[in-house]
Amino acid sequence: MPTIYLNGQYLPLEEARIPVMDRGFLFGDGVYEVIPVYSRRLFRLHEHLDRLQASLDSIRLTNPHTAGEWESLIAHIVELAESEDQGVYLQVTRGPGPRDHAFPQQARPTVFIMPLAMTAPARELVESGVAAITAQDNRWLRCDIKATSLLPNVLLRQLSVDAGSAETLLLRDGFLSEGSASNLFIVADGLLLAPPKSNLMLPGITYDVVLELARAQGIAHEIRPISEAELRGADEVWLTSSTKEVLAVTTLDGQPVGDGRPGPVFQRMHAAYQDYKHTVMRGKDKQ
Ligand code: PMP
Repeated sequence: MPTIYLNGQYLPLEEARIPVMDRGFLFGDGVYEVIPVYSRRLFRLHEHLDRLQASLDSIRLTNPHTAGEWESLIAHIVELAESEDQGVYLQVTRGPGPRDHAFPQQARPTVFIMPLAMTAPARELVESGVAAITAQDNRWLRCDIKATSLLPNVLLRQLSVDAGSAETLLLRDGFLSEGSASNLFIVADGLLLAPPKSNLMLPGITYDVVLELARAQGIAHEIRPISEAELRGADEVWLTSSTKEVLAVTTLDGQPVGDGRPGPVFQRMHAAYQDYKHTVMRGKDKQ
C-alpha cells in the first residue's frame, strides 16, 4: 500500500480521506501535476512547479507551499515509494466550503500527493506506433490550466478507447489543438511542426523537452498552427506526454500515417529523448 501525503500527514493511501464538501469533489475546483520519476530522480521538477504556479494563479488560489516546501514533500514521497521509476501525482483543491459556486471567504486548500505507477511505453509500442482517432475539441477556452475538472477530456479519451485506439486528436475550427491527454507534433516534408502554446492547449513539459531536443539535434522545426488538411497529409504524427514520452501515431482514423510505420524523424527524436532521460537519471541535468 503506497504512502501518500494529505494536508500535513503521510499515511497509507487506503486511510486517506477528504470531506465530501471539498470543492475538488463538488466542482472539480482544483489543479494538478504529474511528474515522472526515473531512478528516483524527478524529471523537470522546477518546470512542473512553475506550471503548477501558473495553474494556481489562473484559478486565483494562493499556492499553499513555497517551491522549497513542495520539493521536500515530493522528495519524501519519492523516497517512500516502492519503485525506482514511477510518477508523482499532486493535486491542490480550493478545499472544503459550503456548496456555493462562489469562492469561500477563506479557502483552506487541500493538498494531496501520491506516487503513481508509471512505466515508459513498451518497446513494441515504440516500434509499431499507435492508432489514434480525431474528434472536435469541445472543451472550454482555458485548456492551458491543468485543472482537475477533466470531464471533457475523459469523454474524448473514451472515444479512442471505444475505437480500440490510443488517443483522440482534437481539432478546433479546423486546426489541431492537442490530444485528450497529450500534445501533438507532425512532420511534413522533413519539417517538424508544433502548434503554438495558447489557451487552447496545455503547455506540456514534454512538448518543451521535444522542442529543446529538436533545436539541439538540428531538426528543422516550426511552431505554427497546423490545419486538419496538414494533419491528414502528414508524413509523421507524434504524441507527447509525461507518461507516453514520445510516441508515433501510425494510424489515424483507420488510415495509415505516411507509410504506416514510425518515421525517421521520430526515430531520431525518440533516441534523443532516451539519451536525455538517461542524463537525468545520472543526475547530470537540471531536474
Ligand atoms: N495535454 C493534455 C490535455 C494533458 O493532459 C497532458 C498530460 N497528460 C499533456 C498535454 C502533456 O503534458 P506533459 O508533457 O506535461 O505531461
